[in-house]
Amino acid sequence: MNKDGKGLHIVFTGAPGCGKGTQARLLKEKLGIPHLSTGEMLRAEAAKGTPLGKQIKALIDDGNLVPDEMIIKMLSSRIDADDCKNGFILDGFPRTLPQAEVLSGMLKEKGITLDAVIEIQVPDEIIMERILGRYACMKCGAGYHDKYQKPKVYGVCDVCGGTDFYRRVDDNRSTVQNRLVNYRALTYPTIPYFEKEGLLRCVDGTGSIAAVSKKIDSLLGIA
Ligand code: AMP
Repeated sequence: MNKDGKGLHIVFTGAPGCGKGTQARLLKEKLGIPHLSTGEMLRAEAAKGTPLGKQIKALIDDGNLVPDEMIIKMLSSRIDADDCKNGFILDGFPRTLPQAEVLSGMLKEKGITLDAVIEIQVPDEIIMERILGRYACMKCGAGYHDKYQKPKVYGVCDVCGGTDFYRRVDDNRSTVQNRLVNYRALTYPTIPYFEKEGLLRCVDGTGSIAAVSKKIDSLLGIA
């Protein structure tokens, strides 16, 4: 519980492939609060194949951001859902300075206090290797990596036994390069913004998943 008595409200930020999604999912299990990934919300919209979905898919596949207004509307209504009453973990939002400013105003209006913005820091060379090797179970979404996190039995998901896997279309070298350029130009400016707000907590994301998770737990005081 945080100081406003409403549970923990956390933002995960950092370059693509830094481990935001992985760590957010682990924290969700520990805290029992929802993991709100704007990337997942957008991929679900894209999969519908509607005109809006097609527009979103084209932007994602090229490694570009969707317009601020679109994602802000989506996120604002998601935060109002019942399951967010006891807190939430944001992953992939805010991704621009205007999104960060709107989030601050939106949460203030809703009477919610942000507890921490956790920046997971990983050098670019490691990011490329992590993203190009990652894949997930088609059935349950469990994440794997060609080198660092293989299923115990080749071709079989550890979690659900599924045998079909997929790789994200935007996880290719040239798109990742563009995503990194966009990260530096558009998302990185949110870091000093949150630092000024006194919310920024930095974590070295180069260790194992368990080691990084342990660091996050200790900085949140839930170890
Ligand atoms: P992610 O799953 O967080 O890596 O996001 C995948 C893609 O979704 C990004 O490369 C963007 O195209 C889009 N996206 C996700 N979150 C946002 C956001 N907050 N603002 C704009 N575009 C986003």
